[in-house]
Amino acid sequence: MRQLHSFAGNRWVTGASDGVVLHSAIDGRPVARISSAGLDFAAMAEYARRVGGPALRALTFHQRAILLKQLAHYLLQHKEAFYQLSRETGATRNDSWIDIEGGIGTLFAYSSKSRRELPNGHLYIDGEPEMLSRRGSFVGQHVYTPLQGVALHINAFNFPCWGMLEKLAPTFIAGVPSIVKPASQTAYLTELMVRHIIASGILPEGSLQLICGGVGDLLDYMTCQDAVTFTGSAATGLKLRQHPVLLRHAVRFTMEADSLNASILGPDALPDTPEFDLFVTEVAREMTVKCGQKCTAIRRAIVPRTLAEEVVAALRQRLSQVVIGDPDREEVTMGALASRDQRDEVRQRIAQLARSSEIVYDGAVDPDLRRGMNEAGAFLAPVLLYCERPLTHAEVHEVEAFGPVSTVIPYQDATEAIALANRGQGSLVSSLFTCDDAFARELVYGIGAWHGRILIGNRDCAAESTGHGSPLPGLIHGGPGRAGGGQEMGGVRGVLHYMQCTALQGSPTTLTRITDRWLPGAARLESPVHPFRKHLGQLRIGESILTGRRRVSLEEIEHFAEFSGDKFYAHMDEAAARANPFFEGRVAHGYFIVSAAAGLFVDPAPGPVLANYGLENLRFLTPLSPGDEIQVQFTCKQIIPRETEDYGEVRWDTRVMNQRGELVATYDVLTLVAKQR
Ligand code: NAP
Repeated sequence: MRQLHSFAGNRWVTGASDGVVLHSAIDGRPVARISSAGLDFAAMAEYARRVGGPALRALTFHQRAILLKQLAHYLLQHKEAFYQLSRETGATRNDSWIDIEGGIGTLFAYSSKSRRELPNGHLYIDGEPEMLSRRGSFVGQHVYTPLQGVALHINAFNFPCWGMLEKLAPTFIAGVPSIVKPASQTAYLTELMVRHIIASGILPEGSLQLICGGVGDLLDYMTCQDAVTFTGSAATGLKLRQHPVLLRHAVRFTMEADSLNASILGPDALPDTPEFDLFVTEVAREMTVKCGQKCTAIRRAIVPRTLAEEVVAALRQRLSQVVIGDPDREEVTMGALASRDQRDEVRQRIAQLARSSEIVYDGAVDPDLRRGMNEAGAFLAPVLLYCERPLTHAEVHEVEAFGPVSTVIPYQDATEAIALANRGQGSLVSSLFTCDDAFARELVYGIGAWHGRILIGNRDCAAESTGHGSPLPGLIHGGPGRAGGGQEMGGVRGVLHYMQCTALQGSPTTLTRITDRWLPGAARLESPVHPFRKHLGQLRIGESILTGRRRVSLEEIEHFAEFSGDKFYAHMDEAAARANPFFEGRVAHGYFIVSAAAGLFVDPAPGPVLANYGLENLRFLTPLSPGDEIQVQFTCKQIIPRETEDYGEVRWDTRVMNQRGELVATYDVLTLVAKQR
């Protein structure tokens, strides 16, 4: 039988003992043995900090993002190997798709988001500078730098690939090495994927290590530069959260635990509406995908009391169409739980729930469904319960049956629906199925504070909806209270979790040189050559031109109005303009000012500047009257070379002033500029 290896330091090692036998969820066959006995955990952490961290921090955000994309392509090429082994976890092809390709998709998403939203440098600038002094010689700026430790990722058994990749992607982008510890039960699939990742040679040495088996004494070596993320049961999470070393060193700890997620049917969603069907389909899908072993699955279906009977009947009908069995058979729509131990646990939880709820559907008594349920495997038919008095019974809001199990709960009105959803004591996700936006609004205000994500489903978005149960790389995953209080992914937010925020204070010139972004008040570099004549590599941050002046006449304002069609009264009607609290008479169009400013700072001949691709942060500050003059200070603010293109982005700080030196408009001009050929 295969012995799983850990990847420690830069080599594959087996545990010093035989360890534990892992069984196939489909037929109970032994699949592998797992043990991490004898691993030098302290050495693993030290290796990550000494080798992985510096190698990663030497790369820019964009360079790391490109490696992540290459890795995603590599894993996609080898995906069939993962699908083949994934079957042993009880997963159908569709379940495995979520785990395998969903995980690889997270790498792609993080790669492209990082290249769009992070600079091609080593430091993340958070927000705008804070002005701390009257004359502007002392300013503040928040920046993020990567932690100089290691991230330990402890995962649950249900997503052996996605669980690792959704944590690895933001950690890697941040520039922090990872040690991954998958749940033992399905670690053989994680191990196979890590073998491919290491074999690809794409990641810098030391950026990823793997522990197959327990984490030993690793937590004892954690420092304030490390991060621990945990996905799993609330009981284990609580134990880890209280670890004395984590407490003593204030080690970052993120927890994604279980959650009694609710889906709520709106009072408008009668049985003949699309929303009713969407709700029933979603509840049935969430019960059966991954055999209900999803932290985001719908455990509580909260429905208007008047519709409860119809909902139960429709769900019964849907669930009776499920085909349980070996996922290799094409007609099978639901596989097995991850292990027989899991199945036994879920059965116990169903018994607990049944103390205050009635079982209204049990697939096990359906001979058609029973047929696919090999007793040697970990099969369990779907079970639907109904809780008549959910306000007085606690179990339905507290007991998580981590399998194909859900409970229908009736509500009287919106206030009661809110109270019931929040009885979950904090959830990862909730969904509402309604076309009544006023109801949706009331619910969101009532349950928002208790939920990490809320999906509002109806006929308008159903065709493209990603569904109740799918965490997405661009949106946060995590919820308050019982859900663990953690937060993962959410685009750049997820990356920042592995970085330290520091408030820098100093002169604008010094902070410009540190952050590579020009700050107002910093020194400007006068250039004898117009900056539009310079290739990307020749440009310097702070390089600036002060243009000549242009007088704006009433005729030009009227010409612009005719030409553009914008005849807003403030430009055309003296009396009406005077009556306006902001103007003393007719004023120039803001867009005319922006256009005329371009006429002053643009150097027109063909050259390295390839295109203007937008403006940001545009503000009009002082109205411009006929006869006033404008002049532009145009300063190179930020340079972001693209790794894979022969051009990069340049951001220009643009300040339009009048003849009295007052600011008329400020904005950032965004251009694409060629690298030197
Ligand atoms: P678990 O028993 O708590 O195990 C989770 C992880 O913790 C496993 O890797 C496990 O390793 C490890 N672990 C257990 N004891 C540990 C200890 N003393 N020190 C360090 N690590 C330890 O949970 P599970 O049964 O695998 O997962 C099921 C639960 O996870 C469900 O309740 C589900 O709701 C939740 N879940 C939540 C999310 C989410 O994103 N919020 C996602 C998936 C699952 P071993 O396997 O080697 O014991």
